[in-house]
Amino acid sequence: MSGGRVALSDSGLTPFPEDWSRALVLVAHPDDAEYGIAPAVAKWTAAGKDVRYVLATRGEAGIAGLPPHESGPVREAEQIRSAAVVGVDVVEFLGHPDGRLEEGLALRQDLAAAIRRHEPELILTLNHRDHGAGGRINTADHRILGRSVFDATADAANEWIFPELAADGSRPWAGVRWIAVVTTSPTHALPVDDKFVEIAVDSLAEHRRYLEALSDAPVEAQARAQVERVTAPRPGFGDGPAIAFELFPVGG
Ligand SMILES: [Zn+2]
Repeated sequence: MSGGRVALSDSGLTPFPEDWSRALVLVAHPDDAEYGIAPAVAKWTAAGKDVRYVLATRGEAGIAGLPPHESGPVREAEQIRSAAVVGVDVVEFLGHPDGRLEEGLALRQDLAAAIRRHEPELILTLNHRDHGAGGRINTADHRILGRSVFDATADAANEWIFPELAADGSRPWAGVRWIAVVTTSPTHALPVDDKFVEIAVDSLAEHRRYLEALSDAPVEAQARAQVERVTAPRPGFGDGPAIAFELFPVGG
């Protein structure tokens, strides 16, 4: 549905659209989805929606003291377990180098191929802007991934930009209706029940080896603090937890 008139809530946020059936979460690293998107994913999969994860890297540069050839398999396994907790059983890794994502045709082509493969109506991705929460500089991989997802969404719909994809049987997909981004300037909110917050905490806690290296705090405490941060109540969306996204319409 488009063009419907939706009242803004007290917070100025619009209810997140629900009239779709398949979403693709496109992120850079294992744990990216769990840091800001998983409570929504838990709600959606419980409602029967199809949500899939595609990660540009295996996160092999993410654990201090653990070399990439050991870290990559650990993080891949943690991501697959983490996704399963929120009802996601399609998890793909594109194999680009962690920490060294390059904005260019190679990444765009791989992302466009993933969008065609999964044919989502909704894409969820990372902050594409230079700054994140508190004015902090966004990481290179995150901003490059986010920007490339916008470009690749257009590429996926065009048969001529990457004609080599057709050789693999890939057909253009112009069905993406929205790109939802985790930013500091959200436009839409989605209330989530406490039970989905708990599921999201369990999901993030599956990144155990990663979180153990990140902080001395217990893994569950780290996971809970992060999930509660992204599910703070939003005025106009009740007293319970809610998650907010900046939503960009795609196409005409
Ligand atoms: Zn990341």
